[in-house]
Amino acid sequence: MTEQNIDLYKELKKYFGFSQFKGLQEKVVTSIISGNNTFVIMPTGGGKSLCYQLPALVLEGTAIVVSPLIALMKNQVDAIRSMGSDIGVAHVLNSSLNKTEVNQVKADILSGKTKMLYVAPESLTKEDYIQFLKSVKISFVAIDEAHCISEWGHDFRPEYRNLRSIIKQLGDVPIIGLTATATPKVQEDILKNLDMPNANTFKASFNRPNLYYEIRPKTKNIQSDLIRFIKQHKGKSGVIYCLSRKKVEEIAQVLQVNGISAVPYHAGLDAKTRAKHQDMFLMEDVDVVVATIAFGMGIDKPDVRFVIHHDIPKSLESYYQETGRAGRDDGEGICLAYYSYKDIEKLEKFMSGKPIAEQEIGFALLQEVVAYAETSMSRRKYLLHYFGEEFDEVNGEGADMDDNVRNPKKKTEAQNQIVT
Ligand code: ADP
Ligand code: MG
Repeated sequence: MTEQNIDLYKELKKYFGFSQFKGLQEKVVTSIISGNNTFVIMPTGGGKSLCYQLPALVLEGTAIVVSPLIALMKNQVDAIRSMGSDIGVAHVLNSSLNKTEVNQVKADILSGKTKMLYVAPESLTKEDYIQFLKSVKISFVAIDEAHCISEWGHDFRPEYRNLRSIIKQLGDVPIIGLTATATPKVQEDILKNLDMPNANTFKASFNRPNLYYEIRPKTKNIQSDLIRFIKQHKGKSGVIYCLSRKKVEEIAQVLQVNGISAVPYHAGLDAKTRAKHQDMFLMEDVDVVVATIAFGMGIDKPDVRFVIHHDIPKSLESYYQETGRAGRDDGEGICLAYYSYKDIEKLEKFMSGKPIAEQEIGFALLQEVVAYAETSMSRRKYLLHYFGEEFDEVNGEGADMDDNVRNPKKKTEAQNQIVT
């Protein structure tokens, strides 16, 4: 098919059952189908997968989809397969396959059945796979979570750095990079590393007008403050993020003792307990999950009414990502973070064992967190500016949804409140 004779709406309906594109999807899909290098920046939940899945299904050949996590790939592939039997086959190629399975995948690609081939970046470095992929028709290469390319991203993966040279070996195939990390520095890095300075770039707004941002000084009364807040929002779902497993356990217990239904979640719990606690939260058998950052990847509960940071996160990217789990249904979403400079020093100490370059980046990201926490200006404006987006603090959507705008205070007064 060529771009002219594809009815995108018909294909959207046929494969995904949707009647409308979300946000910039149609423009992105058109760009890819026309064979352009394309760069997509959309917040989590924005609908990035469809941006490459739809072109993959309608274009001739197989699209290669690079994704960092086997679990994420498996989810996506299962989702595509569940769309029905006339859907182009999606396959995963990674180290978990045995020889017979690899041969089956290759056979399906050769026969033209496979429209999407999900690969981990390290699998792509295998000479055997490269030789094979050189011999088949590749429609394009999609690089999901493209921020993994950048040291300034929150999840740098060195294997991502080799992608450009590997793709070059496959011939002149278009590349599409996708990410939810939007700082100008990371964007620049991605375009440079993928060597596509002229890529069509599509950036969705990162504004979440229904989220209310508030920073409270972290004092020794934090636990009673926390309990008071949760009791004021009785029966509502919320997540409390803590830095350490120990703190997660401690806070979960304190809440339970105070009659709040809460469960802990962190990577130190066995898989069964973690799954159970996650399900209890999703099924609303408990109101609150107290968690480390291990909780949240792919959690899609639409009516989380508050996200509380008991400890300030290590970057504004993490803060945005974690607070973003509130109010997915566009209903109320309160984002409350407790801040003390002592916690910043603690985070700095964690970094001291790391290579110098990494430390410098880590410190720079932390300074942005400090500036955000201590600012007296519109938090939304600050946050969006950090992501390279200008926000109209008077008329913009959600302009009055933060503590600084609702209760303006003089800078000195604000600083006096910070207990270190
Ligand atoms: P992202 O990767 O940007 O975080 P996903 O690709 O996982 O987002 O999509 C988020 C959700 O949006 C999914 O549940 C998906 O089914 C839904 N979605 C995507 N496109 C559309 C659309 N055009 N209409 C309705 N829902 C959509
Ligand atoms: Mg995604």
